[in-house]
Order: sequence, then structure tokens, then C-alpha cells
Amino acid sequence: MRAAMERVTKYKVIVIGSGPAGCTAALYLSRANLAPLVLEGMQPGGQLTITTDVENYPGFPEGIQGPKLMELMRQQAERFGAEFRSLEEVQSVNFTTHPFEITTDQFVYEAYAVIIAAGASAMMIGLPSEKALMGFGVSACATCDGFFFKNKEVVVVGGGDSAMEEATFLTKFATKVTIVHRREELRASKIMQERARSNPKIQFILNSTVEEVVGTKEGGVTSLKLRNLVTKEVTDFATGGLFVAIGHTPNTKPYAGQIALDERGYIALPHRHSTATNIQGVFACGDAVDHIYRQAITAAGSGCQAALDCERWLTHERITERWGLATGEEERID
Ligand code: NAP
Repeated sequence: MRAAMERVTKYKVIVIGSGPAGCTAALYLSRANLAPLVLEGMQPGGQLTITTDVENYPGFPEGIQGPKLMELMRQQAERFGAEFRSLEEVQSVNFTTHPFEITTDQFVYEAYAVIIAAGASAMMIGLPSEKALMGFGVSACATCDGFFFKNKEVVVVGGGDSAMEEATFLTKFATKVTIVHRREELRASKIMQERARSNPKIQFILNSTVEEVVGTKEGGVTSLKLRNLVTKEVTDFATGGLFVAIGHTPNTKPYAGQIALDERGYIALPHRHSTATNIQGVFACGDAVDHIYRQAITAAGSGCQAALDCERWLTHERITERWGLATGEEERID
């Protein structure tokens, strides 16, 4: 199977992922004449493409729509020569050989350096009924699916910023939004909490978890079985939809066994102040390494760091000079 796949050898650097980290890395690499290939993955533009208003990305005092921000980032990288390929998923990598090999579902790519900016994906509660009704009343993306819940009552599970944001967004469509959270305290930032609390369409059920999603593929979700964790009581709660907003998991499966991951599956960066992984020539940035900040701006910043680290490594290893490129930043013409 693999032998029959076409081998593509023309890239110096490959960036895996096209969210803020990947696009920023591609921008810096392309401006260093490294003409990177960006493997966009199955969700081109990353998580911001399934969000609405981004109000905390500097430079946009009125806010900007997530998909628009990502379109602009991509255009900026393309302007300097970055190439983007979408809907090709990385299946595996081989970092034991150099140039490194990256196998997608369509090609085997070779590259002298790799930047992993593969981001993270939405976590689900893990109920069989949640899985069975995914896309039939259960969703992990209010921006994508909110419209389908017009004039219905819906539930959002989670107590973080995502849950507050999704709930607030859903009030545009739903008649009532109930946030179900497993603790008394919310994890969300004060401003997001206040926004949700002051919205008359939003109510909270605390200290509770979803035990089961009730419904059918034909009729959608009709109710949830909620367990009160204090009284242990299970009650039926009528609702027309369930939005799961309980966090994210890093998209690092293809790299397990090839580079060091931490206990949560995030890519481990062994050196402070560096995006270098434990494999020389492989760098990582964005949400695939960061379970603390997880912001578009921090991802973009780390994408910049990864590109600079990568460029310096290629120069240090005297790989850059084989391509007739300038050997140091100071020699580059901007
Ligand atoms: P998060 O902060 O990790 O919050 C996840 C929430 O889901 C927590 O309240 C957690 O409960 C709950 N949870 C986790 N697993 C659960 C389970 N199995 N069942 C029920 N509940 C579960 O994730 P997030 O809200 O996605 O936010 C991630 C990061 O992105 C944060 O840094 C956040 O500030 C940022 N963010 C920012 C914005 C914005 O500023 N516009 C919007 C979205 C996200 P516990 O609290 O009990 O752990």
C-alpha cells in the first residue's frame, strides 16, 4: 500500500496544521525563503474556523470572525510563497530517517525539517448515547450547528470559557440554554461567566452530569438524564439538543512513539525557551504542546518561535547553505 504511494520530495520544511500556530510558522518560514508546505488536515484553519466572534486577538478592536481571521492568516503566508494542501490527513511519520517522512492518506512527503502545529480536538463525555446521536441533536460546535436549534431549548455541558461562549452564541437561536456543569464553581473567566449569567435566556444546573442522552436519529434529542452529584438523584430533563463543550485533546496520535509526549499526550518540549522536540529538526507549537494558555495569540506566537527555531537549526546544521539561501537572519532581505 505504502510503496505504491507517490513520494513528494521537493519541500524543505513541512508544517503540519493550519491554525494560528501553523499559519504563523508558515508566514515566517516563507519570508525566510523556505517555501514551506502546510498540510492543513481535515479541519483547515483549525479550531477558530468553528468559532464566531474573536474579540481578544490584538489588532481587531471591533473583533473579527474566527473563519475570517484564519483566511487572512493563510493569505498572508501564501503571499510569501507558502503552499497549502487541504483534506490530507497525516497518518504516520518517520523521524528515524532524514529527510523525515510524513505519510498522509495520499502521499509520502520528505522534508528536512518539520513543524508540528496539529492543534487539539473537542473532547466528548464518552456516553454511547452521545456517540449514537452525534449529528442528530448532539454537537460539539455551536457555531456549526446552532442554526438547526432555532426555537428549541438546548443544553450546553461544561464550565469553561468554551461552554460560556457556546451558550451565549446559542441564545441567538434557542429559546432557552441550560448550562450543565459538574461542579459548583465555574472554570470560565469572570468576563465570560458574567456575560452568560446576565443573559436572560441562560440558566445553570450545577453539580450535575449527563448520564444519558435520550432520543432517536429520526426525531433528534428529546431529553437528558441528569445526575445531581450531591443528592445522587437522576432526573429527566427535557431538551431539544446537547452541545458538549468540555475541553480539547491534542491531535498527536500519529507522533506517538516517534517523539516524546507528556502524560496527557501533548508534545513534550525538553528545552525551556525552545520549540525543539526531542528529535533534532522536529519542532512543535500551538495547542499540540500547550494545555495551559490555548489562545489564538499564544498559538500564533509559538508558531513564530517554531519557525525561527527551525530556520536557525537548518542554518546551524549547514543544510540551508545547500539551497543557496542566506545563512543568517541578518543577511535576509525583508
Ligand atoms: P476548559 O477550560 O478545560 O474547561 C472544560 C470544562 O469542561 C471544565 O469546566 C470541566 O469541568 C468540564 N469537563 C471536562 N471534562 C468533563 C466531563 N467528562 N464531563 C463534564 N464536564 C467536563 O476548556 P475550554 O472551556 O474549552 O477552554 C480551553 C481554553 O480556551 C481555556 O484557556 C479558555 O480560556 C480558552 N477559551 C477562550 C475563549 C475566549 O476567550 N473567547 C473561548 C473558548 C475557550 P471542571 O471545571 O470541573 O474541570
